[in-house]
Amino acid sequence: MSKVLYMVIPCYNEEAVLPETSKQLREKLNKLIKNKKIDKKSRIMFVDDGSKDQTWTIIEELTKKDDIYAGVKLSRNRGHQNALLAGLMTAKEKADIVISMDADLQDDINVIDEMVAKNSEGYEIVYGVRSNRKKDTFFKRFTAQGFYRLMTMLGVDIVYNHADCRLMSKPALEALSNYKEVNLFLRGLVPLVGYKSTICYYERNVRFAGESKYPLKKMLTFAFDGITSFSIKPLSMILGLGLLILLISIIIMIYSLVVKLLGETVPGWTFITISIWFIGGLQMISIGVIGEYIGKIYYETKQRPRYIIEKVIDK
Ligand code: UDP
Ligand code: MG
Repeated sequence: MSKVLYMVIPCYNEEAVLPETSKQLREKLNKLIKNKKIDKKSRIMFVDDGSKDQTWTIIEELTKKDDIYAGVKLSRNRGHQNALLAGLMTAKEKADIVISMDADLQDDINVIDEMVAKNSEGYEIVYGVRSNRKKDTFFKRFTAQGFYRLMTMLGVDIVYNHADCRLMSKPALEALSNYKEVNLFLRGLVPLVGYKSTICYYERNVRFAGESKYPLKKMLTFAFDGITSFSIKPLSMILGLGLLILLISIIIMIYSLVVKLLGETVPGWTFITISIWFIGGLQMISIGVIGEYIGKIYYETKQRPRYIIEKVIDK
């Protein structure tokens, strides 16, 4: 039996690309339906993230013309990640598998065939990974790759060069729905869900119309959110730094005393120098200790599921 596929496409002011995107995706899905790769109840679900242009009107028109289209309208702009989650959670009620993709067709839609094939091989999550960044500007390439490296360094399990183009099965989506955190960074959350997963490579194109909805400022906020929503390493680093400064203060202490004994100082210099370094180190350690507790609170408040059961065998 073939599975019901829902494509989830977040859209924010995408009137320029929607007519073309919807057409290409419909062709793709119809072909898959014809070849019995997916069920005929499959849908292309557009999520309007509070657009200010004609996006929703276009989506409505599409749903009237063809049942293959579905629409979800958010009450206001909530950002890419939230719009995506809204779509995934709505789609999972009816779908067996969901593929998310951007509205601007930067992700090659031919990756859909491969993702569906991987799913029928038993993979619950298929990450779309861009094979190269030739079409990016030097700046984007440099910052993006730096970001993935930094995340890995900070101990966040993240798939290199994977954006939000991925396939997730119903069980994986059910598991994802147990993560209640508000600061959403799906790229970090999905690997936490576990399940059998794999990677599909594709070439990423340039946006064919409209402008990027991720200007530099949004990109930086996104990166910062990603780090602070997943890693408490920066907090632990404070403790490390404090200990380092305390160590330095001991060296400074010895040095100051030697200089004093040699009689090359003005009165009070030794005392002040030693105090500054010692108190500095002590304060930093104290902040670090508080940081460790805050780190614990941070994890507790997220109320992430402690485990996800994939299967139970009980005869
Ligand atoms: N997007 C959204 N809400 C926002 C910003 C962006 O739903 O507040 C959608 C947008 O319509 C697109 C996807 O997120 O489908 C990725 O945005 P974009 O292509 O502008 O980002 P880039 O590819 O330049 O990083
Ligand atoms: Mg784009």
